[in-house]
Amino acid sequence: MAVRDEAAKLAEEITELRHAIHAEPEIGLDLPKTQRKVLDALAGLPLEVSTGQAVSSVTAVLRGGRPGPVVLLRGDMDALPVTEETGLPYASAIPGAMHACGHDLHTAMLAGAARLLSARQAELPGTVIFMFQPGEEGYAGARHMINEGVLDAAGQRPVAAYALHVTSNRLPRGVFSTRPGPLLAAADQITVTVRGRGGHASMPHLAADPIPAACEMVLALQTMVTRKFDVFDPVVITVGSFHAGTTDNVIGDQARFLATARSYSAASRAALAEGVPRLISDIAAAHGLTAETDYADGYPVTVNDAAEAAFVLQAVTEVFGQDRGEQARFPITGAEDFSFVLEEVPGAFAFLGACPPDREPATAPTNHSAIAVFDDAVLADGTALYAELALRRLARG
Ligand SMILES: [Zn+2]
Ligand SMILES: [Zn+2]
Repeated sequence: MAVRDEAAKLAEEITELRHAIHAEPEIGLDLPKTQRKVLDALAGLPLEVSTGQAVSSVTAVLRGGRPGPVVLLRGDMDALPVTEETGLPYASAIPGAMHACGHDLHTAMLAGAARLLSARQAELPGTVIFMFQPGEEGYAGARHMINEGVLDAAGQRPVAAYALHVTSNRLPRGVFSTRPGPLLAAADQITVTVRGRGGHASMPHLAADPIPAACEMVLALQTMVTRKFDVFDPVVITVGSFHAGTTDNVIGDQARFLATARSYSAASRAALAEGVPRLISDIAAAHGLTAETDYADGYPVTVNDAAEAAFVLQAVTEVFGQDRGEQARFPITGAEDFSFVLEEVPGAFAFLGACPPDREPATAPTNHSAIAVFDDAVLADGTALYAELALRRLARG
């Protein structure tokens, strides 16, 4: 039987697991209940299962009956600090936690793929590592798992790594989308503290007012984006938080702002890390103030290997048909910690449209929204693609 048909037969079981995870979401690096559900779903399969030391990850290794390389498949398991408002029958039972990014689907699909591939163990030419990771949403769970050895779990490095991500909008339901090269941005956080000298607002010459200097910095960052960076290697800086002062007649001692910096190449990222602190401190100095910039590295650029991205699209069109695969024209400005895996192993990250049929992809609520809905109808095909990617890549040697 074709993998796709086998996955369709598993649809009910995969959906049940997804709903169970969805109803009981957990945030961050410690997801004991989710981990338990994954372990239960994998129980009885011919897998070498291990769990994380510092984080509640699950690594499962399936050794095929024939010699061959190692392939890694990844699914993330964590939820977001959002209170669900979908009204779905399996909605989150926990206020302040919701699977608003669809990671519950990834976990269930990856567990389904482990079942499908386990059934083919004897004929499998190589080894599959199933990477169930916590803490994708800002906790760098993938990096924790790499530090704890997930890439060496099979005793040999993977030749390729793949991950899927559902999207509640943007793509028609069931369409897989990826592209060669950068697919998601690097996301770094900039924290600026401008220090002046407080005083009476009527006598600014006797104080050192941090607010005008900080405002100048916000605008100068936007100018820097347009003057210092190649328009074809784009950069985004958004100051999302700005705090200073207490009332109208007092000059405060300091101003503080936070910004996110997104970039698509190592060169641009390095230029930001070097250029932003210089710009900030020079503007401060021009006004006789001082400023500190903390440039904190977040997730790197998610860069697909060109050959692996083409391989994923070819698998999609061969398994599901021409209209189910799309090569994305542009990267998107979100970020992903699968980027840490792709820094070590060639591979590809692909999106899967999961917009419900009663919504328009262009206007549907996005991932992270309290009313985002991901359609169960995509679970079987997502599971099938995970399994197909492993089978096809192993067969290639
Ligand atoms: Zn997310
Ligand atoms: Zn996500």
